[in-house]
Amino acid sequence: MYKQHSTKIDSLRLQGFSPTAIANLLGISVNTVKSHIRRHPVIPDTVACQCCNNPVVQTPGRKTKRFCSDKCRITYWNNTRKKGA
Ligand SMILES: [Zn+2]
Repeated sequence: MYKQHSTKIDSLRLQGFSPTAIANLLGISVNTVKSHIRRHPVIPDTVACQCCNNPVVQTPGRKTKRFCSDKCRITYWNNTRKKGA
């Protein structure tokens, strides 16, 4: 039952669902979702956002995207600048 859910968990993660929401949608335990995420922190063809660790979907042939949103990109650079100062 775990294997058949794993791709579904990943696709829901990509849509921004929380582990609790994914568990409810698939009718499985939150711990199953969380342990899956722990074992597979990065979804294939994605990169973890440098700010919030959400998966960032990559566009093939384009520059690697490091942030899931403009908000995260700005937050990250603001924090980096503060630490450096
Ligand atoms: Zn992010």
